[in-house]
Amino acid sequence: MTPDFEGSCHCGAVQMRILGGFTEDTKAGICHCKECQIFAGSLFAYATKVDRQHLQVIQGQPKAYKQPPNTNLSGKQVTRYFCGDCGTPLWVESDATPTLYAVKLALFGNNFAPGIEIFWKNAHEWEKPMASSEMVFDTLPAMRPAA
Ligand SMILES: [Zn+2]
Ligand SMILES: [Zn+2]
Repeated sequence: MTPDFEGSCHCGAVQMRILGGFTEDTKAGICHCKECQIFAGSLFAYATKVDRQHLQVIQGQPKAYKQPPNTNLSGKQVTRYFCGDCGTPLWVESDATPTLYAVKLALFGNNFAPGIEIFWKNAHEWEKPMASSEMVFDTLPAMRPAA
């Protein structure tokens, strides 16, 4: 079993642990959709899916922003967690994936190569994909059975 993996927001008020940690096979997902651009304050979101039971907040009280359902692409409830003191994005909860969270990777060192990119249609013409070309999707790839 991999050791637990801990990370913290910029100011240190929120500390999180991923039980079981990440593995060598952990790949990041990049989302270029307009919402993710806004919430990342950047060009894209960079995160990985983690079993909800494996995410522990070990210190602090993250703030939650519930996105109005008509403002996200799935039409499902999406809640974005962040540190209320320093604003670091922490993880995203979507009713579209009831067993998983999308955990932001900057607080865990950004050590994961992008395995997939979605909503490439929202990328700018001067961006270049980081994932291999067959894993870059204009919108969402067809749903695959959960591993
Ligand atoms: Zn903070
Ligand atoms: Zn997105």
